Amino acid sequence: MREVTKREAVERRPAGEPDERPGGSVGRRWWSWYWLAATLCATAVIVLMAWSVIVSVPDTVTDGISAREEPTVSAEDGDLPDDLSVTPFDTGYPAVDKLDGALLEAVQEAARDALEEGIVLRVTSGWRSEEYQRHLFEEAVVRYGSREEARRFVDTSGESAHVTGEAIDIGPTDAADWVVRRGSAYGLCQVYANEIWHFELLTEPGGDCPDLFSDAASR
Ligand SMILES: [Zn+2]
Repeated sequence: MREVTKREAVERRPAGEPDERPGGSVGRRWWSWYWLAATLCATAVIVLMAWSVIVSVPDTVTDGISAREEPTVSAEDGDLPDDLSVTPFDTGYPAVDKLDGALLEAVQEAARDALEEGIVLRVTSGWRSEEYQRHLFEEAVVRYGSREEARRFVDTSGESAHVTGEAIDIGPTDAADWVVRRGSAYGLCQVYANEIWHFELLTEPGGDCPDLFSDAASR
């Protein structure tokens, strides 16, 4: 009697026992589970992607539209030419003229002293109307992609010290740097770690400035 080959042994397995050959019932079952799991994963990924698109699109779209529909701001709203031509003495600009009196005096005094060291302080932004601040915020939302991210760089209109005339932005970089180092002698303090140009009157002349906030959102 010839020996029963492996193949024959498998083929002669009693009825009802699982067929373990590749492509047999066990193999087929394994593959079907694999495909079921893969299909479920793919479906989950597609659903998640669709959901994130649905959630993010309306915000971006409406913010983009509202920023475009915002009327152009003028000098009356506190807009300044961006050519670094405005000094703290140019009170013909509402952005400078409507600054808090004590802040403006402190900045002017600092500007005189900085000039003696060859540094010219320029005003890149000062007082802003609520409308202008809202416009800047909406622009930032478009640029940074979300309101949360925009708040790190621009205060919403209700919170900004620019709207109350209690904040000033100084340029160019060497001038801002001078005020960062010497401003406390005039009561001028850098406020946000990520805005080396933004100053507020936050201490007595010669006093210590409070610790920096990492950004506008963490104030
Ligand atoms: Zn500022």
